[in-house]
Amino acid sequence: MSDTPLFAPTPEHEAIREACRAVCDDKVAPNAAEVDQQAVFPQASYDALRAADFHAPHIPEAYDGVGADALATAIVIEEVARTCASSSLIPAVNKLGTMPLLLAGSEDLRRRYLPPVARGDAMFSYCLSEPEAGSDAAAMKTRAVRHGDTWVLDGAKRWITNAGVSDYYTVFAVTDPDQGARGISAFVVEKTDAGVSFGAPEKKLGIKGSPTCEVYFDGVRLPADRLVGVEGEGFKLALRTLDHTRVTIAAQAVGIAQGALDYATSYVRERRQFGRPVADFQGVQFMLADMATKLEAARQLTYAAAARSERSDADLTFFGAAAKCFASDMAMEVTTDAVQLLGGYGYVQDYPVERMMRDAKITQIYEGTNQIQRVVIARQLLK
Ligand SMILES: Cc1cc2nc3c(=O)[nH]c(=O)nc-3n(C[C@H](O)[C@H](O)[C@H](O)COP(=O)(O)OP(=O)(O)OC[C@H]3O[C@@H](n4cnc5c(N)ncnc54)[C@H](O)[C@@H]3O)c2cc1C
Repeated sequence: MSDTPLFAPTPEHEAIREACRAVCDDKVAPNAAEVDQQAVFPQASYDALRAADFHAPHIPEAYDGVGADALATAIVIEEVARTCASSSLIPAVNKLGTMPLLLAGSEDLRRRYLPPVARGDAMFSYCLSEPEAGSDAAAMKTRAVRHGDTWVLDGAKRWITNAGVSDYYTVFAVTDPDQGARGISAFVVEKTDAGVSFGAPEKKLGIKGSPTCEVYFDGVRLPADRLVGVEGEGFKLALRTLDHTRVTIAAQAVGIAQGALDYATSYVRERRQFGRPVADFQGVQFMLADMATKLEAARQLTYAAAARSERSDADLTFFGAAAKCFASDMAMEVTTDAVQLLGGYGYVQDYPVERMMRDAKITQIYEGTNQIQRVVIARQLLK
């Protein structure tokens, strides 16, 4: 564990925020409504993020990345989410998909698969959930059977973010059905591997610009060197990954809420009723005050969790779950209040806050529902 406290952003972190905000305001925000309405992948936003190296900032320099630390990565995701939650899943899911390699992958696997992601030539998704194995992910059925030098993979994963767009997938599969959670292993699967196919995109409430599909594996033959880490330790690796990446979902939630608060604050200054701006009414001011206070509390908890992630501290499991849970509940409240502050105008697509409210909802569900985060938090307290 490092001695550096790293709780607060340094001037370098703030410079990254400023640079990312400029790119997002200029090149991501203009596509956000259209991407949501058309439910299409935000290609123009991806291109802008790639051009500025904000698409996968966490990848270390040794693998051709820019080597942003966990706090800088969280700030990038927060800033992208402030303008477009769908686009923020580009850096977030690139981290989610590659984290198993960074935590446990062989040097050979890292050298093969991380540089294309760092260059923006490929994206990386994470395949844990299945139709019958969501919160109880260890109940997965996807099976990998060893035949000499190859593994043969069969099964189906559900709800996979950026499926079909990503070139690479970390896939968790049962390698020893007698061992339960200790009989699960992780593999890198390529989109072009024979036997890989994708379902139709889900029709979702929010983050409509981020494709979510089923991924099918039909006798996919994987060379033995595609195993990530140690056979049988895949489930542990899946959970260690989530400890780190729940921080990024917390950052996404903070960003969505900030976008909604910013919009609502400027709106109430302009909107006049009873002969004056509605911002003059104390009832409105109290709502803004509560929104901003909760938002800042969530941001500070998220940054504290990011520091734990950077150092892989022993209390990261608690902090990752607490930050994700608190920030996503906050984002749901703040975006709902933002809709309220716009009155009827908040309820229609001509204004961005209804999109932000729909987008906020997913942060309470994925990478473990907030009920599961509370299970994780309580387990840490009671262990
Ligand atoms: C848009 C989207 C993108 C996603 N992206 C990915 C991805 O990229 N990769 C991936 O692997 N997965 C992904 N997921 C899956 C996501 O992580 C799961 O949906 C989530 O973990 C919940 O699983 P479930 O949907 O099966 O719900 P269930 O597990 O069926 O839960 C149903 C309800 O029961 C509650 N519940 C379940 N168990 C308990 C318990 N022990 N105590 C209290 N309450 C409980 C849940 O909180 C929930 O309210 C995504 C999901 C969505 C919707």
